[in-house]
Amino acid sequence: MFAALAAASAAFAAPMLIPAPREMSVTGGRVALAAAAAPNVEVVASIPPEGYELSITTNAVTIRHSDDAGLFYAKATLAQLRADATDATIPCLEIKDAPAFRWRGLMLDESRRFFGKVAVKKLLDLMSRYKMNVFHWHLTDDQAWRLFIPEYPELVKKCGKSGSHEREVPPFYTEGDVREILAFAAARHITIVPEIDFPGHFRAVVRAYPKFACTKGARNAMCVGNPEAVRFAEKVLDRVCELFPSKVVHIGGDECKAGPWAKCPRCMSLVRRENLGGVKGILPWLTRHLAGHLAAKGRRLCGWEEIAVGFGKPDARGESNNDSSLPDELLPPRDVLVMGYHVKPGAKSANMGYDVIACPNWHCYFDYSQKLPEDPYLYFRPDIRWLPFEAAYRFDPYEGVKPEARRHITGVECCLWTSHVWSVPELEWKVWPRGLAFAEVAWSNPDPAKRDFKEFSARAAEHRRRLIRDHVNCAPLK
Ligand SMILES: [Zn+2]
Repeated sequence: MFAALAAASAAFAAPMLIPAPREMSVTGGRVALAAAAAPNVEVVASIPPEGYELSITTNAVTIRHSDDAGLFYAKATLAQLRADATDATIPCLEIKDAPAFRWRGLMLDESRRFFGKVAVKKLLDLMSRYKMNVFHWHLTDDQAWRLFIPEYPELVKKCGKSGSHEREVPPFYTEGDVREILAFAAARHITIVPEIDFPGHFRAVVRAYPKFACTKGARNAMCVGNPEAVRFAEKVLDRVCELFPSKVVHIGGDECKAGPWAKCPRCMSLVRRENLGGVKGILPWLTRHLAGHLAAKGRRLCGWEEIAVGFGKPDARGESNNDSSLPDELLPPRDVLVMGYHVKPGAKSANMGYDVIACPNWHCYFDYSQKLPEDPYLYFRPDIRWLPFEAAYRFDPYEGVKPEARRHITGVECCLWTSHVWSVPELEWKVWPRGLAFAEVAWSNPDPAKRDFKEFSARAAEHRRRLIRDHVNCAPLK
């Protein structure tokens, strides 16, 4: 009798899927695994983009979809069901699924640490397994410049390295490398959004081309008042647009102190000429200028929250005081895309009418430590910050956003900064299992009140076992 009960409960047990489908009913009965190898496929125009329906009966396995991505995600779900199968059968069920967010991103900082093509491809493959679809590639920063630009070869010659520990040769990406990675990503329905930083995080450029800074000593910022420096930004972005098909191009725009600009005759002359009302107007001017340059090529500018709300010093908890009192005419056009890396500035940008990708640090910065009892990658740091697995799962993309502005939260992203990430195993330890929690929020359920952490943890534990089996250095859940 117990065996019969166990068999019955197995027949109706929900499979261990991450992200959970939006609607799923387990209908009872099981079908041989072989049936899933050649499903019937039907195109149904009314199914939303990236969505799919999966029907598994004892007679047939059927996928319905409206676009290629939907078919790809249906197959990803089938692959997880196959991985669940311990007796060569999968459960009969009906799934209706589509993503909560169209932008389900992961950012990797390869300026501070270069991981290379093999590691990036492995990460892309895992992202697609969990239905994440934007790889935000942070390719330049103070530490190094990782993208070969033919007009400016000194960038990688002098700055394509963040330290003597780097052994990859060369530690930057050629155009051929980028095309190879783009094709690999496209086959997995992942868009690669490149990030090239202006006007701050500019030290690598200044090492190669000191003339693009305001003065010899001012290394952190581009001299926005120098027309040649602005042309440099345009030419780099032109190359980036030739190489990357992404509609969105990220220009950074963050953490730029106005100090050098206030002392620079060229920058102050720009302020007067363009009536910018002081140095605070310089970043918005550059954002507007580059937004127009990109728009002429059919691209959309994306930047960190400062492009909409200005730059302020974070408080002790790392919460941003970014807040601007700029008049509306100095702000960038409302069609630029803002990345909110703190809750309040992100919400404020959405409330101002900008589309926002929510990636608030306390839920989405996976370089923060996980508060594990044993962590081989826990370094003593006076500024250590914690982001346990549960905090990744408790992420509310709509925190602080007015009801009428919720439609402006157009995506979510988790971020891996790499100042304190030294190797590929460490990278994996920091992304997983928190990436599972992120994937669930991004695809399945943006409302934290409706989530069940205990139930999710059981699924995540099973997926951790699978990740380890697949040679991914996944951290414990707690
Ligand atoms: Zn200047």
